[in-house]
Amino acid sequence: MIAIDAGHGGHDRGCTANGLVEKDLTLRLSRILGDCLAASKLGFALTRKSDEAMSLSDRGDKARAMGATQVIIIHFDSNADEHVGRTTFYVRPNDSQASDIAANIGRCIPPVLTDRTLVIETSPDDWRRRANNVLRAHEATPALLIECAFLSKSHHAAFLRAPQGLATLATAIACGLNTNDTKLWKDPCSKLHQHLH
Ligand SMILES: [Zn+2]
Repeated sequence: MIAIDAGHGGHDRGCTANGLVEKDLTLRLSRILGDCLAASKLGFALTRKSDEAMSLSDRGDKARAMGATQVIIIHFDSNADEHVGRTTFYVRPNDSQASDIAANIGRCIPPVLTDRTLVIETSPDDWRRRANNVLRAHEATPALLIECAFLSKSHHAAFLRAPQGLATLATAIACGLNTNDTKLWKDPCSKLHQHLH
């Protein structure tokens, strides 16, 4: 069972830049990712289904109540320097399941967002406090925080605004979950076409 945790919501808008609002993007991407996973053998559920504020502890409680065996936490980021930033994964130290999934997803995400560099942060000393708290809310459940893109970067923003941008990102995440070991589905995203038109 995969829990998809869309960051922010309600009065908590997350970051904003280039006309994009993080809380909206996290929810839209999570819904599309849910459609991708609906075609798989894995169960999935969204911790946040609407534009509502949720505490970190509520998110952890909800994922545990779902019986989640993996949590995928969706965020976007921004930086005062519009040239800085690439897709970044955060996992707790020793969470090998989440690290493996991050590496798989990283290979699938378009190079325009990753700059062809896989960044997996595992050392709590290097983390901003928020990333740490976000992961801690899920305690013992393997959890992967993805800062998918930087809204402050103009070509990231253009990618996200493009008609197929979020669908491409969702497919990349779904494909990363579909490892050789699990072979979750034949068609990684049979419902994707719904989002491409
Ligand atoms: Zn965020």
